[in-house]
Amino acid sequence: MNIHEYQGKDILKRYGVRVQEGIVADTAEEAVEAAKKLNAETGTSWYVIKAQIHAGGRGKGGGVKLAKNLEQVQEIAGQIIGMQLVTKQTGAEGRKVHKVLVAQDVYYPGESETKEFYMSVLLDRTTGQNVIIYTTEGGMDIEEVAESHPDKILKEHVDPRVGLRPFQAAKIAFNLGLTGAAQKEMVKFVMALYKAYDETDSSMFEINPVLKTSDNKILAVDAKVTLDENALYRHKDFVELRDTNEEDPLEVEASASNLNYVKLDGNVGCMVNGAGLAMATMDIIKLSGGEPANFLDVGGGANAQTVEAGFRIILKDPNVKAILINIFGGIVRCDRVANGVVEAYKNIGDIRVPIIVRLQGTNAEEGARIIDESGLKVYSAVLLKDAAEKVKEVLAAQGI
Ligand code: GDP
Ligand code: MN
Repeated sequence: MNIHEYQGKDILKRYGVRVQEGIVADTAEEAVEAAKKLNAETGTSWYVIKAQIHAGGRGKGGGVKLAKNLEQVQEIAGQIIGMQLVTKQTGAEGRKVHKVLVAQDVYYPGESETKEFYMSVLLDRTTGQNVIIYTTEGGMDIEEVAESHPDKILKEHVDPRVGLRPFQAAKIAFNLGLTGAAQKEMVKFVMALYKAYDETDSSMFEINPVLKTSDNKILAVDAKVTLDENALYRHKDFVELRDTNEEDPLEVEASASNLNYVKLDGNVGCMVNGAGLAMATMDIIKLSGGEPANFLDVGGGANAQTVEAGFRIILKDPNVKAILINIFGGIVRCDRVANGVVEAYKNIGDIRVPIIVRLQGTNAEEGARIIDESGLKVYSAVLLKDAAEKVKEVLAAQGI
């Protein structure tokens, strides 16, 4: 589960990570009030107005702007709130901005140079460890750095049983070229950042840029945090951080019906029990010349209700030209699933696309018979190969 920058920074602060201070606002007027408060608290008189959406690259897209007085705060916040922000990560349609973070300007001139670094903590599945990835080339697109200067991207693996040891943090600060007060600050920063990542059970904390200010403070200017949904039961207060505005509406609806649904761009909707079988089914769809329109795992107990909820969600996607239902009847019996499909079909009524149902396992033949005798525009198959053939046929009949 992704969260907003301002929420990520709140979490970081709780763990003692220094951040660029800011206050979130829903309107231009609130932004001005936020700026006044920030001025009282931090003494800053320049502000950065930052669009809060779950996507990076906001700066380049015009979603991060400097304001040098309260009039500019009002004007810029007014422009950014409500805008459709397009960045490298949002796709061409962009994302509507509902909130801005009014933050203190931390790029002020001073005794030494301001420097931007990159740092992230995430899970390295190949080694079964956590890893801190960091580079002196901060502030810019990390994918670009990885492409042009892969040697500049450094990694520090952390054994999750031992945790991050201070000498490792010291090594990171040294490799970033820091000395004196800034080096000490960086050690504290890295230790606190790792602790935040670890104790929140997150799958990623990405801070780009980590800033060394001109007076040698180290702070997080940005925060991209991915919380592990499977660990939310241990962090009940994180549940409210979810922002469904940032999610695909069909995925939000599916999660309300307890369906594991991921929207894709293809033309063949699929409904399957079990995630592995769902992946295999998507492969089969591709092999038969279609493109999967979604991933949908209806879980172990495929019944009339779940099938109907699944149908309704798949049918809301206008790209869908056929639906392939692939159920393995292990715990659930195929005849029950077949009855569920027929019932759901009748409840929905007007289904505009052909449906291919492949049932395998307990009572598969009986299931196929129920489908065949239903009189509905549903094709049954027992072998996946036959189901794939049928998908190909119904697409061809529509000129696809
Ligand atoms: P992103 O573009 O979505 O990654 O958003 P960031 O929070 O990283 O901000 C983008 C860029 O805005 C940063 O890389 C900085 O160059 C700039 N920026 C952020 N905060 C400040 C600030 O306090 N002062 C100034 N002058 N620039 C800032
Ligand atoms: Mn950033």
